[in-house]
Amino acid sequence: MSETKVALVTGANKGIGFEIARGLGTAGFTVLVGARDVHRGAAAAEKLAAEGITAVPVELDVTDPVSVSAAAARIDREHGRLDILVNNAGILLERGQSPSATPVELLERTFATNVYGVVTVTNALLPLLRRAPAGRIVNMSSGLGSLGITSDPQGPYAEAPLLAYNSSKSALNAVTVSYANELRDTPIKVNAADPGYCATDMNGHSGPRTPEQGAVAAVRLATLPADGPTAGFFSEDGAEPW
Ligand code: NDP
Repeated sequence: MSETKVALVTGANKGIGFEIARGLGTAGFTVLVGARDVHRGAAAAEKLAAEGITAVPVELDVTDPVSVSAAAARIDREHGRLDILVNNAGILLERGQSPSATPVELLERTFATNVYGVVTVTNALLPLLRRAPAGRIVNMSSGLGSLGITSDPQGPYAEAPLLAYNSSKSALNAVTVSYANELRDTPIKVNAADPGYCATDMNGHSGPRTPEQGAVAAVRLATLPADGPTAGFFSEDGAEPW
């Protein structure tokens, strides 16, 4: 079994995921750079390695169970355990449609990545997380998944009625709590992170925050001490309403 602590970040080839990988790598973790495209993953890992980080590209498409099992088998073979899983990969497919004009097929595709992908990856890696002394799971949610925030007509996100994306992140919050409850009697903590609105490819770089700032909450939740919270939803500034 590996001596160094090992962290896997899905969708780590760019955006917030890349910055989470950089943050965990800088903190001394061996970072497994999950990417559905081998070349993009290798390029990202090379960039991190040039900064002195131990970064290994891992081919992983969260919507493909064969890819997920192969990644889990490889991590088992090469490291024997996993200390941190950050379920960061996510998609936003809406292009300005109102909820009533959104095809169900768009919801299905969104949930396949943002919700079922997280469940597939988590189930495949849970045996390896159980072998770590203090496993941590972080699910990258969004303020847009917070019913407390989006149902407030004066709130900042009331004008973003993204049916598929928002409901997928609300479902991800529910998934987070379900796993946290199942794992409550283990050392594993499971929390959801809200990165804030960050400039990435997902939103045409329109967010006011940087991807580095977006990574802060997830890195903090990934490195929580033993007396830290589980079953919570946090931004960089603290607890968020569900
Ligand atoms: P980006 O679009 O920049 O990055 C998304 C990443 O997810 C890419 O690496 C992408 O890979 C990967 N990905 C997409 N589908 C899959 C898949 N099937 N398997 C594996 N990887 C996949 O987005 P962000 O960095 O902005 O988003 C990261 C997370 O943060 C997402 O979960 C998003 O919902 C969440 N978030 C983002 C906010 C923001 O303001 N940016 C706000 C709130 C939450 P590829 O390069 O191959 O497409």
